[in-house]
Amino acid sequence: MNQYENRLFINGGYVAGEGREEAAFDPARGVELARVASASDGQIDAAVETASRAFAGWRNTTPKERSRALWAIADAVETNAAALAKIESLNAGKPYRFVEAAELANVADVFRFFATAVRNVPAIAADDYRAHGKTSMMRRSPIGVVASIAPWNYPLLMAAWKIAPAIAAGNTIVIKPSENTPLSLLLLAPILNKVLPDGVVNVVCGNGAEVGQALISHPLVRMISLTGDIRTGRAVLKAAAGERIKRTHLELGGKAPVIVLEDADLDSLVATMREASFYNAGQDCTAACRVFAAKSVADELTDRLSDMIGNLIYGAPERDDVEFGPLISATQRDRVAGFVERARDGGHDIIAGGNTPSGPGYFFEPTLVRAPIEAEIVQKEVFGPVVTVTEFDEVQTALRWASDSEYGLASSVWSRDTAAALRIAKDLEYGVTWINTHGVFATEMPHGGMKNSGYGSDLSMQSLLDYTQVRHIMVA
Ligand code: NAD
Repeated sequence: MNQYENRLFINGGYVAGEGREEAAFDPARGVELARVASASDGQIDAAVETASRAFAGWRNTTPKERSRALWAIADAVETNAAALAKIESLNAGKPYRFVEAAELANVADVFRFFATAVRNVPAIAADDYRAHGKTSMMRRSPIGVVASIAPWNYPLLMAAWKIAPAIAAGNTIVIKPSENTPLSLLLLAPILNKVLPDGVVNVVCGNGAEVGQALISHPLVRMISLTGDIRTGRAVLKAAAGERIKRTHLELGGKAPVIVLEDADLDSLVATMREASFYNAGQDCTAACRVFAAKSVADELTDRLSDMIGNLIYGAPERDDVEFGPLISATQRDRVAGFVERARDGGHDIIAGGNTPSGPGYFFEPTLVRAPIEAEIVQKEVFGPVVTVTEFDEVQTALRWASDSEYGLASSVWSRDTAAALRIAKDLEYGVTWINTHGVFATEMPHGGMKNSGYGSDLSMQSLLDYTQVRHIMVA
């Protein structure tokens, strides 16, 4: 008997998966927590069909009714926060104190935001545009069944970013958590279902190549929303371009440049990077991971970052002093170690850390590397507790480096001259640019990428609109 809920959630109830078993781990100890049987093709079919049937009713609820449901979900998330945080912390290796106080609080806030947003969709024009007596109006309609594919770095928060706007807009959803971290969403599913009609939210588990692919390819799916890798984004686009064309919403990888001008407040920068670079062991698409520093401050900044990194506390997530935990899996830990190894072999300076510590769990030391722009570790998303520093002579050079990157998700500019920083921010092709801070989200503000980091917004009214279709209705 599994200690943790390991069944799929379809049409308002748990059902045992009929497909291949996937192991879910405790990455801080490297031990298996549960085996989760994947959804079979028949079960994926059943989940999508049930969502499609539920759509007929859910789309005809009023914004007020959906708003009430989302408020109730937020309350229920808070009531169950301790249990949800416990499993999230265990399965994702995140410090418990951050999960409960920050991430679960954010999950509730996201449901509350969309509960309000759906009753406040901006007014849209209605008038007699062609002739008196021929009245045109725009209306926003839900799209239908949304297939949502979530990553492992923030299992519950990413699920909330997807579920809340989709159902607020009147859609129904079949969501697949990452095969690494299915347990918390399986616990959340009946909590959602207590206030939602059966079939509005369904959870299927399994890997990406089989279950994910079958889900996004299902003919009754009208929209695919993914948070994941760029490669997975391409698979989604292919599935969306089949016989049935589907709407897509892609939040892909990132490699955030941190552009430090010579008048930057280094105390504030280093204090901010302590969290913005290392929270969640750097497994964050917005992590402040590549510093472009003006030549005059690069050495001092490197020293200060090295000191800060030497004081970071990492370890088992239940400890109340740790700042970050392990990487999600042995594979991810080895991937991160591989980047650092190749940087070392390439002759780049490993200023701090750089090793896999001995002992159980998938930990990696917080690491600082000084490397030129062309180094692989500066160019590619590492998704671990690794920061690089690269110096520049002219700020235009830093801007060019940022623009040349295939990624376009998050960025920051550090300068006491706010006007200069704003001019740089204007030219950065990144979905978010922070000035003199990094990694601070507001539920009211859109979060999304440009270039290979994808398109479409999470959070904000913009996200709610992304999950609707705008239409023209004319009455004569
Ligand atoms: P991943 O792409 O490997 O997996 C994400 C999800 O996609 C998983 O549920 C996986 O099972 C599924 N998947 C994989 N292949 C699939 C396919 N062919 N069809 C359907 N589903 C498939 O990514 P990951 O390793 O879980 O997450 C890390 C990545 O996510 C990083 O690149 C990170 O930057 C990105 N990310 C982006 C954001 C953002 O807001 N832009 C937020 C968090 C994470």
